[in-house]
Amino acid sequence: MSPEAPTVAERLERLIRTTGPISVAQYMAEANAHYYATRDPLGAEGDFTTAPEISQMFGELAGLWLADLWLRAGRPATARYVELGPGRGTLAADALRAMRSAGLQPPAELVETSPVLRRAQAEQVPAARWHDDLSTLPENGPLLVVANEFFDALPVRQLVATGTGWCERMVGLADHGFVAGAGPVRPESAIPERLRQAAPGSVLETSPASVAIVRELARRLSAQGGAALIIDYGHERTGLGDTLQAVERHGFADPWMRPGERDLTAHVDFEALAEAARSEGVSIHGPGNQGDWLETMGINLRAATLTKSAPDKGREIAVARNRLVAPDQMGTLFKVMALVPPGWPEPEGF
Ligand code: SAH
Repeated sequence: MSPEAPTVAERLERLIRTTGPISVAQYMAEANAHYYATRDPLGAEGDFTTAPEISQMFGELAGLWLADLWLRAGRPATARYVELGPGRGTLAADALRAMRSAGLQPPAELVETSPVLRRAQAEQVPAARWHDDLSTLPENGPLLVVANEFFDALPVRQLVATGTGWCERMVGLADHGFVAGAGPVRPESAIPERLRQAAPGSVLETSPASVAIVRELARRLSAQGGAALIIDYGHERTGLGDTLQAVERHGFADPWMRPGERDLTAHVDFEALAEAARSEGVSIHGPGNQGDWLETMGINLRAATLTKSAPDKGREIAVARNRLVAPDQMGTLFKVMALVPPGWPEPEGF
């Protein structure tokens, strides 16, 4: 790279040398902003694969879930399809096609910061409108929202138990790459009561960015109607553990090396998201296992129908179904949670 365009590693190294260690959240935010802005990371040629890239059935069932709610809510004409972090636009295309078969043709509003991925999305959903964040989403009409593997990419703070209190984990410089260590002491009130006595070395992650987005989403749903389907890997209850991980070329990598060149994620704390959403008046359904949700939504029937119309693809369809549903694949690691405001029907699948 030219000297005018330093890498993220060079930029963060200079920042830490001049101002001291930075938070894990800042490290993750800067690394992922660059990472997503400069590439399409999905698929066999990229760094990782997601459920909608494995099979069209995933996006179709998400679309049918939304369409079912919309039908039972009395088919409001002003409904919009909203997706957070739509990747290549595959899920959106599959969901919108499935919705069309149910008589629903909503305008698409895509929340995406990456210019590279916006271009990929425009090929799949040419008529979509794009947003940097939720603040510019239309304020009238119900919002039918999907977010798959969006929240796991948002920055987490890490707090570490030291024996003499909880400290913010900060990122400093090592001989090669970066290193995380205990920084300033944080008040105990930042730690859920049942976790305060954790053994020294225990790590608690919080994601203020995710909580803020879910709160805004729930506020909009309460005001405008609609529903949101959040799918991600993570845990149902707030717990301890350092879950920050890096993936490059479909393998695990060191998160403290090459920031901005590998995908950084952390497990989603569904309890924290649910609490934030409830505080804005929506009801929570799940989280449940992705495998169970897909089976309840009819993935087996859909697989059979697809196989019937393309018998030579039967094996491929069965393998894809298994990857999405089987407990030793994505079926139990990934969770599905729904947000539904007052006045909207009970959702299917939970
Ligand atoms: N949902 C897609 C892609 C998941 S990858 C799929 O399932 O295949 C994460 C997505 O979130 C990418 O599209 C990425 O560019 C986007 N993203 C990450 N951080 C974001 C942010 N802060 N605001 C908006 N989009 C973001």
